[in-house]
Amino acid sequence: MRIRPTGLLIVIATCVLMPAQVGLARTMVSGLDDATLTVPGGTTDFPPGYEDYHTYAEMMADITAIAAAHPDIVAVSSIGLSYEGREIPIVKISDNVNVDENEPEILIDGLHHAREHLATEQALEIISMLVDGYGTNPRITRLVDTRVWWIIPMVNPDGSEWDIHGGHFHRWRKNRQPNGPGQPIGTDLNRNYSFDWGCCSGSSGHPGSEYYRGPAPFSAPETQDVRDFVESRVIGGKQQITVHLTFHSTGEEVLWPWAHTSATTGEGMTRDDHRVFVALGTAMAQRNGYTAEQSDKLYPTDGDEIDWMFGAQGIFSFTIELYPKGGGGSNRWYTPESLIGPETTRNNSAVLYLASKADCPWKVIGKAAQYCG
Ligand SMILES: [Zn+2]
Repeated sequence: MRIRPTGLLIVIATCVLMPAQVGLARTMVSGLDDATLTVPGGTTDFPPGYEDYHTYAEMMADITAIAAAHPDIVAVSSIGLSYEGREIPIVKISDNVNVDENEPEILIDGLHHAREHLATEQALEIISMLVDGYGTNPRITRLVDTRVWWIIPMVNPDGSEWDIHGGHFHRWRKNRQPNGPGQPIGTDLNRNYSFDWGCCSGSSGHPGSEYYRGPAPFSAPETQDVRDFVESRVIGGKQQITVHLTFHSTGEEVLWPWAHTSATTGEGMTRDDHRVFVALGTAMAQRNGYTAEQSDKLYPTDGDEIDWMFGAQGIFSFTIELYPKGGGGSNRWYTPESLIGPETTRNNSAVLYLASKADCPWKVIGKAAQYCG
């Protein structure tokens, strides 16, 4: 499955974005500049013992190869550029993948935070699960045929590359966007979304902080790209994406909105919406053995992606904090490569469960007729 890159040959030679898809995602993954494919400082891979993790170039090579091998169900395009100019790819998986069919849509993303490399591996595992299971596993086949899957494996490629430059880890979290002369670099992408941005002491206004929210909502190119893609899926006034997962590490948690307040209703969240979140989140946690709770309960955050996804777009959106459980010390993000397989496949059942509810999330509280008619 994994493809070893050889130097810089990973220029995406084949445009895998079909014409019918233009308008879904605006940039074709092609003609990438060589400079965008090198890790800063000439580093070509993760540190020793972690080489099974995907660098940006390896991730690009893998998804491009998968799309080439499965052109009937997989297409790769881009949601836009990172601050340093890397394409941020998105993988679409569905039957008739080159047609914009009217099917419930699922969005999955990984790696808002640079050092949380297992999140990219999780997204890639989901792609593999769907592709490998299609045509052999009846449940997966059905969930590819009747859904549209959108998967963004690496929201923050600049940060990911920076985190491994020089052959060792740097515990980097933010993106790589400068904050002006003499100021520390980077914005915390998961504090940069616009819904109640900076409202509630769940982020920092200081560029030196790991939780710096940026100078304005959506000041980061990477969050703009996510926003623009999600907004592009509003068709005929209706958001096509119904459910969303964003993968982070660590903590082994399934978290739902609100992230900025302990309130369970208000700001557009009804009592029924909250019940749906609790039911879906709890059911996913039963499948992966994680802890399920409202995001605010872990710690309050503002400008968080899931609050925007639900508050602004009405999408049932969850953060999944991957292995390991809480604690784990200052290197807790750097899970040994031997655990990539077990700790990502562990979530497959929860992901498929959520996808199975994407046609009408309210059905989990017995109110499909009321909300989905
Ligand atoms: Zn994170």
